[in-house]
Amino acid sequence: MLLSILREEVLAANLELVRQGLVLFTFGNASGISRKDGLVAIKPSGVPYEELTPEKIVITDLAGRVVESNLRPSSDLPTHLEIYRRFPNVGGVAHTHSESASAWAQAGRPIPCFGTTHADYFRGPVPVTAPLTPEQIEGDYELETGRAICRAFVGVDPDAIPAVLVAGHAPFTWGSNATEAAHNAVVLEFVARMAADTLRINPHAQPLARELHDKHFLRKHGAKAYYGQVAPLRASTK
Ligand SMILES: [Zn+2]
Repeated sequence: MLLSILREEVLAANLELVRQGLVLFTFGNASGISRKDGLVAIKPSGVPYEELTPEKIVITDLAGRVVESNLRPSSDLPTHLEIYRRFPNVGGVAHTHSESASAWAQAGRPIPCFGTTHADYFRGPVPVTAPLTPEQIEGDYELETGRAICRAFVGVDPDAIPAVLVAGHAPFTWGSNATEAAHNAVVLEFVARMAADTLRINPHAQPLARELHDKHFLRKHGAKAYYGQVAPLRASTK
């Protein structure tokens, strides 16, 4: 069986989305990529989560051709593939219809950064895509969704903001692997809920000051990161 470790990781990421309450029925999917092999592992389409096993995870190439499986891949595969093709550092993608993040997507509004929880993970507002045109919806819908995501990141670094809201639909998140993509989906839902609560308490609430936003993001990410244990270890091996 190809890529057994990647299959295990993708399975665990899919189950984590369910465990965290982000996925109702089968409305969600996570994938991971082996850049070395140019192969993607993704949840099969419509299979109940309790029946998922590593063997049922579908392996495709970056063009969407199934390389190993008897099952069809998630119908959102073309969206995942477009993210992998355009954002070269992405190693995992997650998609859910989690309630608060999807509410922002349905409202067609980016999620402003009102606090340090958001700033720790996303170095700016979480963008929202432009609505798809009727031609895009009638055409290759899932691929066009991926293209709309990439257009929302023109001038925005996808490594610094690993999440997007697809207008009228729901969020996609990503990370260096499937585990991180699922983790970011959980954090996104949390900050989406807090942002909505913030505006409910004070409709005139202002986004976090740029300095505080950058301070929180940069102490966890990048060359000068110092939060937790990962950065000092990495620095000491250089
Ligand atoms: Zn969806």
